[in-house]
Amino acid sequence: MQKTNPTLFFLDGEAEGAPGLKGSRCTACGEVVLLKIAACPRCGSRTLDTVCIGQHATLGQSAEVFHSADGFEAPYFIGLIETAQGPRTFAPIAAAPGTALHAGMPLVFKLLPRPDGRVGFAYAVAEGAPS
Ligand SMILES: [Zn+2]
Repeated sequence: MQKTNPTLFFLDGEAEGAPGLKGSRCTACGEVVLLKIAACPRCGSRTLDTVCIGQHATLGQSAEVFHSADGFEAPYFIGLIETAQGPRTFAPIAAAPGTALHAGMPLVFKLLPRPDGRVGFAYAVAEGAPS
């Protein structure tokens, strides 16, 4: 399977706990950050483990977008997500058009096959979450 962006996330089997976002954990101070990076932003150590993070996250602010762009068919949602491990990022939120999303909703990482054969990802509202 070809990923929409190989630097951003892991498919099943590519890392312990995958699928999820690609991250780095500092072996010296324990800082966890998004993406595979060369040096710890907290302590400067260059010894970091590549880890899978963001399997679970919490929604911050979000917005419904009405303009299609680069494989995102409008309408779609974009949201600030806070991963269970701490790092935050913007990510597409997989929800039906018009869904009332609100801050604090629990989210889960989800792989999304694209019509062009590549696979991307989005966050979906966790099942059983209060609406
Ligand atoms: Zn560190």
